[in-house]
Amino acid sequence: MSAHAPAETVGKMLIDGKMVESEGGGWLHSVSPADETLLGRVPIGTAADMNAAVEAAERAQPAWAALPVAKRVGHLKALADAILARREEFAVLEALDTGNTVGPMRRDVENAVERIHFACGLAHEIKGETIPNGGANIHMTLRVPYGVVGRIIPFNHPIGFAASRIAPVLVTGNTTVIKPSEQSPLSASLLGELCAAHLPAGTVNIVTGGLETGETLVRHPRVKRIGFIGSAATGMAIQRAAAETAVKHVTLELGGKNPLIVWPDANLDKAVAAAVSGMNFGWQGQSCGSTSRLMLHEDIHDAFVERVLEHVRAIRVGHPLNDGVTMGPINSKAQYEKVLSYIRLGQEEGARLIFGGSRPQGDAFERGYWVEPTIFADVAMSMRLAREEIFGPVLSILKWRDKDDVIAMANDIDLGLTASVWTRDLNRALHAAQRLEAGYIWINGVGTHFRGVPYGGFKNSGVGREEGLDELLSYTEVKAVNILLD
Ligand code: NAD
Repeated sequence: MSAHAPAETVGKMLIDGKMVESEGGGWLHSVSPADETLLGRVPIGTAADMNAAVEAAERAQPAWAALPVAKRVGHLKALADAILARREEFAVLEALDTGNTVGPMRRDVENAVERIHFACGLAHEIKGETIPNGGANIHMTLRVPYGVVGRIIPFNHPIGFAASRIAPVLVTGNTTVIKPSEQSPLSASLLGELCAAHLPAGTVNIVTGGLETGETLVRHPRVKRIGFIGSAATGMAIQRAAAETAVKHVTLELGGKNPLIVWPDANLDKAVAAAVSGMNFGWQGQSCGSTSRLMLHEDIHDAFVERVLEHVRAIRVGHPLNDGVTMGPINSKAQYEKVLSYIRLGQEEGARLIFGGSRPQGDAFERGYWVEPTIFADVAMSMRLAREEIFGPVLSILKWRDKDDVIAMANDIDLGLTASVWTRDLNRALHAAQRLEAGYIWINGVGTHFRGVPYGGFKNSGVGREEGLDELLSYTEVKAVNILLD
């Protein structure tokens, strides 16, 4: 193995600057998706723990917001440096806990740190405006923090999301309570220790646990702003639950079933590579932006599929800490069973399984949640295989002939997160970009999130935009001040 596995982890929660266990004494166990051995445990946060966390955040917020912006930025940069210094520890823990291969997890840590610096760089741009209205009066807006922000994190990029999303919330003068995923909770404790060391007590609180712990946060009447990353179904549940206790600002970064559309004139070498890299096999397809619907023009379909298969044959499935491995196990038993059920469904629906679909052979795969990279051809938009997010290593290939039909096919689902368009004809590409119902579109590219470019979904893929200035602004409320001159 290239990376070294740590001993069993016993995590704690961060509440009011202290690392604590649950007041209820409950523990959540985390097993390795590679072999189902116990990796560690974290406390199950109760309603009392959540309440203590929200109260600590509330107490800390006025003093935090009153700090000069440069001082807030200073704290966050110190946190970023501390995270980077522990990069290897985070990456190994994440690889073991998520099943994602360790290389991309190292990059996740770096990305989180870069995003903290990005938010720090924008800190002074969070400002109001003056509004000309004739006459002698002066009209202006102030941007003020919400107070306590609840952030709920999915399993696929735990530190990537938890750490990077702290910065926009804090830099704008809010404090926060974070609820990590119960499927990959181990790194949250290390993040908590670093927050305790570099931020004033109460500014960041981390409460581990499952659905109930998340729901308690969402329902807390004094948490007026929720930022959620996860599935569409949970997003809808969160909107409902939030509205039952107060009027809240809820933003949602949700799932996708994203099309990658190839025209015959595209640079086919690059498009083939993108069709495979866009699936994010390095984390088993478990990425919201994965382009899991490959839509090929009929003139290039057969040859393109052959070339995709050549690339997929080169994927090395194995333990996420092993050198040279490019795909690990599925994150959890539930997710594994979901992926297998979609593979069965695809076959029942009449799609043609042309690669994978089973557990890989060999002693290393006897236990754990292993599935081969899986490819279906002859998929039609009438099939659930083409319409629903699987969140696994399953690529569906669809054939098209007419330029209007392909856009209609791409748009014919409830989700609309990303899309990737491959053609050398810029006019055609821009027409497609105008008509595709997706929040983030690549033309002759795939996968990369560019710093400062807003990311988020149309339709059931979300509400709001993250990763750019919009995200920072969304953590402020606008207050209008009208000065009436004599
Ligand atoms: P999930 O929705 O099952 O869980 C996400 C988080 O919500 C977890 O922390 C969970 O404990 C919590 N939760 C579950 N039910 C809750 C409830 N009723 N109230 C409050 N909290 C609740 O998602 P997941 O399986 O962890 O992650 C996979 C999903 O996340 C996929 O759909 C993926 O596309 C999506 N995702 C989206 C983005 C994006 O940026 N758009 C990024 C990553 C993942």
